[in-house]
Amino acid sequence: MDVVDSKVYPWQEHSWETLTGRFPQLSHGLLFYGKKGCGKHAFARHFVAWVLCLNKQANGACGECSSCQWLKSDTHPNYVHISTDEDNKKQNARIKIEKIRDLLPFVQQTVDGWRVIVIEPAEALNIASANALLKTLEEPGERVVIILLADHYLKLPATVRSRLQHVALDRISAEQSQAYLQQHLPESAASQLSLLMNLSGHMPLQAVQLAHSDWLQRRHEFVQDWEKLVLQKNMPLHYATRWNKELSFIDFMQMLDYLLSDLACIKLNQQIKNNDMQPGLERLSAQYQLEQLFTLYEDLQRFRQLADQNVQSNLIMDQLFIKLMNCGPFLE
Ligand SMILES: [Zn+2]
Repeated sequence: MDVVDSKVYPWQEHSWETLTGRFPQLSHGLLFYGKKGCGKHAFARHFVAWVLCLNKQANGACGECSSCQWLKSDTHPNYVHISTDEDNKKQNARIKIEKIRDLLPFVQQTVDGWRVIVIEPAEALNIASANALLKTLEEPGERVVIILLADHYLKLPATVRSRLQHVALDRISAEQSQAYLQQHLPESAASQLSLLMNLSGHMPLQAVQLAHSDWLQRRHEFVQDWEKLVLQKNMPLHYATRWNKELSFIDFMQMLDYLLSDLACIKLNQQIKNNDMQPGLERLSAQYQLEQLFTLYEDLQRFRQLADQNVQSNLIMDQLFIKLMNCGPFLE
């Protein structure tokens, strides 16, 4: 357990007070949810430490008792963290049913003190592991808290969702976001902050991460190449090779994801996220029909899965750039 990332952000204070105020009269199962970049992991760690702490303080664990020491050394006998075996960036990574089944003896044993289980990302529970979890939620022992962490709680099976007490951690006011960004990106101009807030879905931690991403400054350059590719219908492999070198595959796909969805937004007369690129994106959007943009978006997800299956990124990029080129009303 990483102590550094254990905290309650200003926009989570109400949730903190509610949870710790009602404790121990809480549901056995808690669902902490909120969009990526809202700080839910830090909140969960802070709460876990507090529940297990033998000398609880109003604002968190004491940091000194034996429980706090065990957490720091990642050897707490009453704490279990369950995640996928694989990298969570992979779309198809799942939490195996065996891991959930193995929880039963842990929650049913009789021990002193509280026991805490964290399952994340909760979206990675498949049907079998979710059903196994239901059994655990139905027959928990005394002093057991099971915490699920999710970006999108609607992706969880309704049977599991209905058994959990929901805690929203991404209700962030514009003022709170602003204050956080000014503190963490003091050098950034207001227009840059507005762009970052747009791209991050108004999640401050995500916005700060995006500010340091490799692809953010490369968008204009890429859109110029993209426009040339579509207009000239020429040299897709040249551009594919170039961008395969310029950015990591993950960064490139993230950039393309944002840009593609903006092209669709322009068609739908909705506000775009890359709000510093309106003219260029409008020109590019005019080259595609809406259905083609949706198809490209589906292709994008498929290409990401291929990368998860270890297909070489240069082969994927070649195919992707041919797709980007071949769409467009000129071929209709
Ligand atoms: Zn303590």
